[in-house]
Amino acid sequence: MATSQEVVTELVRRVVEELSREKGFQDQDFSGLVDSVDEAVDRALKAQKRLTAMTLKRRDQIIASMRQAALNNNEALSALSIRETQLGRYQDKIKENVLCATKTPGTEDIQPQALSGDDGLMLLEYAPVGVIGALTPITNPTGTIINNGIGMVAAGNGVVFNPHPSARETSTQMIQILHQAIVDAGGPPGLITSVREPTLDTAKQIIEHPKINMLVATGGKPVVDVVLRSGKKAIGAGAGNPPALVDETAHIRKAAECIVDGASINNNVFCTSEKEVIVVDEVADSLIKFMQETGKAYLLTPEEAQKVTNLVVSSAEKINIVYIGKNVQLILREIGIELGEEYRLAIFEAAKDHPLVWLEQMMPIMPIVRVKDVQEGIRFAVEVEQGNRHTAIMHSTNVDHMTAFARAIQTTIFVKNGPSYAGIGLGGEGHTAFTIAGPTGEGLTSARTFTRQRRCTLVEGFRII
Ligand code: NAD
Repeated sequence: MATSQEVVTELVRRVVEELSREKGFQDQDFSGLVDSVDEAVDRALKAQKRLTAMTLKRRDQIIASMRQAALNNNEALSALSIRETQLGRYQDKIKENVLCATKTPGTEDIQPQALSGDDGLMLLEYAPVGVIGALTPITNPTGTIINNGIGMVAAGNGVVFNPHPSARETSTQMIQILHQAIVDAGGPPGLITSVREPTLDTAKQIIEHPKINMLVATGGKPVVDVVLRSGKKAIGAGAGNPPALVDETAHIRKAAECIVDGASINNNVFCTSEKEVIVVDEVADSLIKFMQETGKAYLLTPEEAQKVTNLVVSSAEKINIVYIGKNVQLILREIGIELGEEYRLAIFEAAKDHPLVWLEQMMPIMPIVRVKDVQEGIRFAVEVEQGNRHTAIMHSTNVDHMTAFARAIQTTIFVKNGPSYAGIGLGGEGHTAFTIAGPTGEGLTSARTFTRQRRCTLVEGFRII
């Protein structure tokens, strides 16, 4: 039982909390950016404690405010992102941010579960983990921060972001906008923070910081491996190489349109985008013809395809990063081909061992591989996915084929008869996530991913029926 001293202390704490909320926090001018990781963590920790002392209604207001701020600043941030990173397409960035602002789950994702029976009542609640260290990629600097920010705060956490240094300006502006939205809705300053100059060194400090309880890495395999070795609870959302398999039963024209749209969104930088097409020989010619007929896909001759490959794949069989996320016009101009603005993708027939089949190209250059039949297609698609367990796409009307492929490839996202982005909720059912945790298995992350479970048991005598 609490002593009278403890009761008084608790009352004083609540009164101070309430007064400071009514007055606005003293640190109202704080922007969310700091000079050191230690300061970021301290601020986030303090703010997180304040957040958990607030009502869930207040938390909902904070989330609503973050969503609105992301929408209000969409045009400016999308333009900045393109300018700074030189990746992707403006209109697609706009879509990315709308998707993240509107389809990232909020507190509804952490509803408690209750079980009542002869032995009493069991309540399961999803509790915050505390402060999360979130490492974000260059490819989706705005989307990932909106998506992580909403999900992590909805779960009651503070966040210290370490954005990719080459997307520093965009990411830190995004963080400041969301930070201001939190404060405007009566939330605590410092709940989401970042150092002004994120580097690999600050990432290391975050990973090793004793007051950070969870790490979330969205990026390539190296950073996922680093957080998994940290000894902390870590969520790893890594690279993919999503195959799109088309069999002889597919609606070929629709398949062609979906693949062109999915592979060209944001110039292919989405980790979920189709990275190679595998098509059953019988329908390969039709598929290629229908892709061309979309008016958005340019078919490279074998000679042109070789020139593009020499350009975008370095001698060490690595992607030449200069061309990642660039418009197809810019890439093809380098080999003397001028394309109209309507084009979004270049396609070419490739042998099975072509480097662009195996590398995560993240540019609008799409290899198409013929296979004898669907069984060979499934086997090959599993190989090229390389155990990433990320995303696969299939165009087919044969349920047995679709089931066989889904079972064999074991990816986190499996899209049937749609563009890849339907799998992240863009024109497909379900919530969105820009942190898709294949390696660690949480799948499309959401608020619940960023919690720890707590059970509260009341023994006997609670049933009212
Ligand atoms: P990246 O791995 O280079 O960087 C991601 C983040 O990790 C950055 O903040 C970076 O600074 C940090 N980082 C990188 N190496 C690190 C290290 N050794 N120690 C500590 N921090 C480190 O990735 P990128 O180029 O920014 O993004 C593209 C990659 O991310 C692609 O492979 C793409 O598939 C993947 N991605 C995956 C998802 C997903 O949800 N699974 C989403 C977006 C991007």
